[in-house]
Amino acid sequence: MPDDSPNSWEARAAANSFYGFTDLPTIAQRGTVVLTGGEGPYVTDVHGRRYLDANSGLWNMVAGFDHPGLTQAAKDQYDRFPGYHAFFGRMSDQTVLLSEKLIEVSPYSEGRVFYTNSGSEANDTLVKMLWFLNAHEGKPEKRKILTRKNGYHGVTAVSASMTGKPYNSVFGLPLPGFIHLTCPHYWREGQEGESEEAFVDRLVAELEETIATEGADTIAAFVAEPVMGAGGVIPAPMSYFNKIQPVLQKHGIPLISDEVICGFGRTGHAWGAEAYGFTPDAIISSKNLTAGFFPMGAIILGPELSDRLQKASESIEEFPHGFTASGHPVGCAIALKAIEVIMEGADGNPPLIDNVRRITPAFEAGLKRLAQKDNIGEARGMGLMGAVEAVQDKATKLPFPGSLSVSERIANACTDQGLICRPLGQAVVLCPPFIMTDDQMDEMFSKLETALDLVFDEVA
Ligand SMILES: *Cc1c(COP(=O)(O)O)cnc(C)c1O
Repeated sequence: MPDDSPNSWEARAAANSFYGFTDLPTIAQRGTVVLTGGEGPYVTDVHGRRYLDANSGLWNMVAGFDHPGLTQAAKDQYDRFPGYHAFFGRMSDQTVLLSEKLIEVSPYSEGRVFYTNSGSEANDTLVKMLWFLNAHEGKPEKRKILTRKNGYHGVTAVSASMTGKPYNSVFGLPLPGFIHLTCPHYWREGQEGESEEAFVDRLVAELEETIATEGADTIAAFVAEPVMGAGGVIPAPMSYFNKIQPVLQKHGIPLISDEVICGFGRTGHAWGAEAYGFTPDAIISSKNLTAGFFPMGAIILGPELSDRLQKASESIEEFPHGFTASGHPVGCAIALKAIEVIMEGADGNPPLIDNVRRITPAFEAGLKRLAQKDNIGEARGMGLMGAVEAVQDKATKLPFPGSLSVSERIANACTDQGLICRPLGQAVVLCPPFIMTDDQMDEMFSKLETALDLVFDEVA
């Protein structure tokens, strides 16, 4: 029960804060969880209640909520040089260092990086880059963007148009020229009797038909998350990208990997593209880039797109685009530290990506165990991103009626147990921080199981 006295944190939150992506009936009923701090993978609310955050904040707080190396990097940089831009031929030393580092850890031996404040802006920026360089190269019609249904690429007008979610229709989106192909989710989209390979071949054929119908000269890019995140943690079949990419290459369409979630270790690899064994033409990064300690996004252009964009910019003497805080020195200093912490090991500690690989088998085993329940249709994931999807009927994969709000109830039952996890469609998402111990992993699964049993008892 929420504390609904007018001076409660819950009432004050509701009075003056506008909520995004929040189920308002739940807020009316349960109140807002107002948080004051965190320790490791736990967060604490204003009533002193502690929650294990199985979603790493919003996928991004992978080093936990109190990492001393990251806060120190921020403090040191605030003392040295607390803010600057990257316009008019100036940028901070930290920006130079981070770009070098990002190319070093990227699949590219050379390339260039452009900074934004978020993943949405990074996708928006990428689209403007492509529109600009195609126009410069005499192909002003080459503007359409291919993405997949359920793909999530952000919320600005362009990146929301790339996002393949039905809720964007309330905004009159997508904009024209944003095309959503079939979601590569074999369990849900595979046809009766269709093998996984036949399913992939059908999606490749759909891509070929789409290119033929629309015209390759009208398509600027194919943008995809290696493992879909906000679409419900959907790993494409292993052969998917290796079959899609040659078709795109044949038609001169760049393949862009939206690595905002997958990048920097979430799948147990540096990049989701690496997990699938393909090299994209550019990478979109955000979220883990600063381990959530600073808002920042980046477009990492491989050598070809980088050269073409450079030429287009030289032709009009500039790339007329940028954000006031692009390449912010504090953000860059934090990102440099985060990359060290996750990928290389910092201050005598092993790299967090080692721990991701160490605990992934226990994570997968926990998901598999939950999948044995009568009302769990599928458990899926890769590395430390996973989801369990609730169904009313396991054999027919029939979902529960939307009116039952099953995944919302599961997430609420988890909150009551001191576990934060997120409802997504009919699924519940787990993407714990990379610092999780074995005991915390056990705690996460046992609390989730208690919540699932409670809710399935009520609705099944
Ligand atoms: C979160 C996310 C975005 C958008 O990032 P914001 O920082 O929220 O704008 C884009 N792409 C993917 C894959 C994401 O998960």
